[in-house]
Amino acid sequence: MSQPSTVEKVVIIGSGPAGWTAAIYAARANLTPLVIAGDGATRDRMPGGQLMWTTEVENFPGFLHGVGGQQMMGILQQQAERFGTRTLSHFVSRVDFSVYPFRVYHANDLMGVAETMLEAYSVIIATGASANYLGLESERTYENMGVSACAVCDGALPRFRDQDLAVVGGGDSAVEEATYLTKFARKVYLIHRRDTLRASKIMAQRALENPKITPVWNSAVTEVLGNPTQGVTAVRVQNLQTNATTDLPVVGMFAAIGHTPNTKFVQGQITLDPKGYVALKDGFRSLTSREGVFAAGDCADATYRQAISAAGMGCKAAIDAERWLAEKGVH
Ligand code: NAP
Repeated sequence: MSQPSTVEKVVIIGSGPAGWTAAIYAARANLTPLVIAGDGATRDRMPGGQLMWTTEVENFPGFLHGVGGQQMMGILQQQAERFGTRTLSHFVSRVDFSVYPFRVYHANDLMGVAETMLEAYSVIIATGASANYLGLESERTYENMGVSACAVCDGALPRFRDQDLAVVGGGDSAVEEATYLTKFARKVYLIHRRDTLRASKIMAQRALENPKITPVWNSAVTEVLGNPTQGVTAVRVQNLQTNATTDLPVVGMFAAIGHTPNTKFVQGQITLDPKGYVALKDGFRSLTSREGVFAAGDCADATYRQAISAAGMGCKAAIDAERWLAEKGVH
């Protein structure tokens, strides 16, 4: 393993709206931040984060007519780099916050770069969250053969065109995915384990008024059915009130049942809440249980999880880091 020759002032782990905003602020404070953006080897290690799978972002202030998710992340990266941010397309495999300067171990599986260690006076964790799946064995069998957790990434695939599909979940993601899929599909079943949606009223109403969407209430998918040639052919659905089981003929099932924070690599190093979100010492700040380590965005936010709220948290984390470093005499 190579040894670091210099100590970084601020290492930002993650490159979604939180990471890039933290970088913009840290760079403008002359801290020449290093963003470890992800190596793209898996979905949760994609540089740019979840917005890379979003088509149109219409609720980020400043974009009058909306902006593509990938385009927006490109702009944020360029803005951060314009002020001296450096970017590394690696992923962070582990950290050691018990020593100071902190140690950050990173690698790039896609490029075959072995684990390397760098030292940092401060670290901002902005690694976001990843989509959850139901956890069925049959769901794994048909992943990429009809099972997906991202309508925006996969909905336009030929296999789904003019076909019947299922979306599981009752939150904003589920109604958004179901509505999006009606662009391509003939019919979309929205399967939810309750009889009311938890999604915001306007989005829920839009979905329920869509003639292509059929809600399936009080129901759970117990199995994904299919075969190796066609992929998914149906989902087995159990009515949770009557226990009756029905097979709905669909060629695709989209899980939209929430997210898990990408914080495994900091387990045991800082305090996480029971769901794995970084526990902030004060909800208004970005301070974690370890002095000098800050967190921003979806990895520390189970409530809002919006691009703009993540960006705001990134700004706070950079300011908190700058002040903390200044107290330590690092400029
Ligand atoms: P969420 O609000 O946590 O909703 C998850 C849904 O999945 C819930 O309806 C939940 O059911 C269901 N669920 C969870 N585990 C399940 C399981 N094992 N089996 C079946 N169903 C399960 O997550 P989300 O929809 O991803 O939204 C997360 C956040 O992002 C929210 O703050 C949301 O407002 C935001 N968001 C905003 C937009 C937008 O504004 N454009 C779009 C997407 C998301 P229960 O209802 O029974 O708990």
